[in-house]
Amino acid sequence: MGRRVSGGAVRRLRPDAILVDSQTLLSDRALVVRDGRVLGHDGPSAEDEVHPGEFWSAAPVLVHAHLESHDAPAATWSRAGFAAWAAELLAWRERRDRLPPDQAAAASLAELRRAGCGFVLAHRAEAGATSEAHRRARELPELLDLPELFAPEPERAGEALRTCAGAPGRALHSPFGVSLELARAAFAAPGPVSIHLGEHAEERRLLAAGDGPLAELLRARGRPLPAGRWPSPVDWLADAGGLRPGVLAVHGADLRPEELRRLDRAGVRVVWCPGTHRFFRRPAPAFAAAGLPAPALGCDSRASNDALDPLREFRLAGRLLPDFPPAAWWRAATEGGAEAVGRADLGHLRPGAAARWLRFRAPRSPADAAAACVWLAGEEVRPIGGVEAAA
Ligand SMILES: [Zn+2]
Repeated sequence: MGRRVSGGAVRRLRPDAILVDSQTLLSDRALVVRDGRVLGHDGPSAEDEVHPGEFWSAAPVLVHAHLESHDAPAATWSRAGFAAWAAELLAWRERRDRLPPDQAAAASLAELRRAGCGFVLAHRAEAGATSEAHRRARELPELLDLPELFAPEPERAGEALRTCAGAPGRALHSPFGVSLELARAAFAAPGPVSIHLGEHAEERRLLAAGDGPLAELLRARGRPLPAGRWPSPVDWLADAGGLRPGVLAVHGADLRPEELRRLDRAGVRVVWCPGTHRFFRRPAPAFAAAGLPAPALGCDSRASNDALDPLREFRLAGRLLPDFPPAAWWRAATEGGAEAVGRADLGHLRPGAAARWLRFRAPRSPADAAAACVWLAGEEVRPIGGVEAAA
């Protein structure tokens, strides 16, 4: 579990088969690693550390999570709509008998490590919802946590932005959770910006007409409504200056094909969270209808998902949206996620990659990469231990 093997020397690790990426399966080849990097692949040698009966893959990359709320009793909450659910979440957050943010973050990271996650991008909404011990120990999954800003009051834009000074990027809650002033400043600054966008019809209605369940929730909590009208969440993003590379649009499942294509043309990456999509029983998204590759994947949080598990998200994606074959979803869960966060060294095991992998017990090696991805989609297939890495 999160095991690291010592670095320095060249090591040759030889399972029965290695899924190098969604297109490439190698059999009877050693993975040659040094100093935490993949050097290459080589034929069998007497120096190999052999792992008979095992199948290895690159570690998945999840591009959206919240480490808070690990103990959220979400199974009992309303799923009738986003605003109804959000009201339950906000009420629960007032309680004192829940895990403090740092302990919730540690529990979330431990769950992700056991489930085989190699890298996770998280929105940090609560101060302290990160695990300093995890970061210091350079434990897996590798964590990029971005401070999440929720400040719909225009006069609070400056104060909100100061809270993320020095951070590697910013997260905005949503088009209704930040003022246009704050959004424009956040998108104008260099670096990645992640935002929940095009998640549900309630958001579209609020932006287009200024009413509906979200407007009622904001009013009930004494927060201002968005000061403008936009026919589409993507129009709001354009107005805010967010149609640029480095922006991550999280969920996107309520967006129409032409809206998704507009994001794609601008270099905005969509991140879909299948577990949360299923939690809310939302209609099928238009990713395939838009003619675009399968989106990167996230797991959101335990407040709207039953588990934090990249393989489960990969499998749910295939079940909810079978328009893409398992190899396309495997690519999305690995290299697609890595590309979305600008990390060419993650999500595959080609030369130069971070030596970070999952081990599976496989009585019989799959015939090719496509068959391996179909096999990985089987519910019973679990990684041995969790994500591993060569230091
Ligand atoms: Zn989220």
